[in-house]
Amino acid sequence: MLIVTRLDELRSARSLLDGKLGLVPTMGYLHEGHISLVRRAKAECDYVAVSIFVNPTQFGPNEDLAKYPRDLDRDLHLLEDAGVDLVWTPTPEVMYPSGFQTWVEVEEMTRPLEGAQRPGHFRGVTTVVTKLFNAVQPTKAYFGQKDAQQAAVIRRMTEDLNFPIEIVVCPIVREPDGLAMSSRNIYLDAHQRKAATVLYRSLSAAKEEYEKGERDAEKLRRKMKEVIASEPLAQMQYVSCADYDTLQELEKVTGKTLLSMAVFFGKTRLIDNFVLE
Ligand code: AMP
Repeated sequence: MLIVTRLDELRSARSLLDGKLGLVPTMGYLHEGHISLVRRAKAECDYVAVSIFVNPTQFGPNEDLAKYPRDLDRDLHLLEDAGVDLVWTPTPEVMYPSGFQTWVEVEEMTRPLEGAQRPGHFRGVTTVVTKLFNAVQPTKAYFGQKDAQQAAVIRRMTEDLNFPIEIVVCPIVREPDGLAMSSRNIYLDAHQRKAATVLYRSLSAAKEEYEKGERDAEKLRRKMKEVIASEPLAQMQYVSCADYDTLQELEKVTGKTLLSMAVFFGKTRLIDNFVLE
């Protein structure tokens, strides 16, 4: 497994990989969710590259950039075991050298949901993913459904900017009790960790209503809110029942739909979602 930091090192390493290359972009502190993307990439490509970069430009001023969990040694062992060929660990200076002033912005669909709560977040994401795509030049890139709006925005951007890259979106990997795996789960204390299953429980409750025939989006949102409100340690930030493609809130559920939410446990903010087909 080749491990590179500088852009010139990355380019030479990339030039040795002749064939289909799958890229898995991450912020590190890897878990089974990330590894599931690596496995999918390995199954579909000749080579797999993983980037590890805690991207400062996608964190807001009051977010957890400084204390975002990091453990590069552990990550590298996991990636080696998973059979990854190339790991790129750029520093902020490599990604954003002094004088940097070019940004990539996707418009409408970055405004609701995460975009409304985290101003500037998607501008940071789309800019860094553009830079990863240009530097690594993968055949396919792998993203998790865990970050549903991010996956939708990246798909849009890839099409809008004519990147010759296939975007593959992989299912959410969960803990046995339903909690979606996330690097941020380690912030939770034992009580919060138990309470955090409320995201899965509320999504499941709304899905159950949907399966019983409920198509009123407001009633599905209300159901999710009700279950979250029953958990004293949970502070709801938003719940949404939106069109899967445009991410606009719905009145009636007719086509493919995204149920999603953000919930705080103390200072830890967790997100989760279900897709209704
Ligand atoms: P992150 O390191 O949090 O930026 O995540 C890197 C990639 O892994 C993103 O495409 C995420 O959507 C994906 N990912 C994170 N958690 C999960 C999970 N529990 N299941 C599937 N994919 C995930």
